[in-house]
Amino acid sequence: MTAPHQDAPSAGWLDHARTELARAGHRAGGARTAVLEQLAGAGCCQTAQEIHDLLRGTDRRRVGIASVYRVLDQLVGLHLVTKIEFGDGVSRFEAAQPGGHHHHHVVCTGCGRVDPFEDRDLERAIAGSGRRTGFEVTDHDVVLRGRCPDCAGSRGAGEVSPPG
Ligand SMILES: [Zn+2]
Ligand SMILES: [Zn+2]
Repeated sequence: MTAPHQDAPSAGWLDHARTELARAGHRAGGARTAVLEQLAGAGCCQTAQEIHDLLRGTDRRRVGIASVYRVLDQLVGLHLVTKIEFGDGVSRFEAAQPGGHHHHHVVCTGCGRVDPFEDRDLERAIAGSGRRTGFEVTDHDVVLRGRCPDCAGSRGAGEVSPPG
């Protein structure tokens, strides 16, 4: 027997989320299942609108935007989903891994592109800072802002001289 190819790192999260929802007394409804699966398959954060549009694109499920918001609120309340604010007035959501494994984000101030990144040294440094505060630190937010390669490239196109 060969192990199945693991394309979805969040497969464990999906099981975890289902278990926690059942424990909290929520039955697996159509909207909830659809949103859960969409979140599990996403590599990074999405807005409620994006989740709604992606579900609609699959054509097999009709989930209203109000249902998407309601399910997301529920999942955030159960700490199964992290709500992320970049200060642009739009909330984004992503699966919260049960072991605390997480990434952070770099946001383009030009086009709004969001990329995830992980940095173990950064995590260690933050843990050290946390200990020195004397607080019992349970969470942290890190957001890097700047221009993505596309925006930086188009802006500086006239200024950069070709090599050689
Ligand atoms: Zn992310
Ligand atoms: Zn971190």
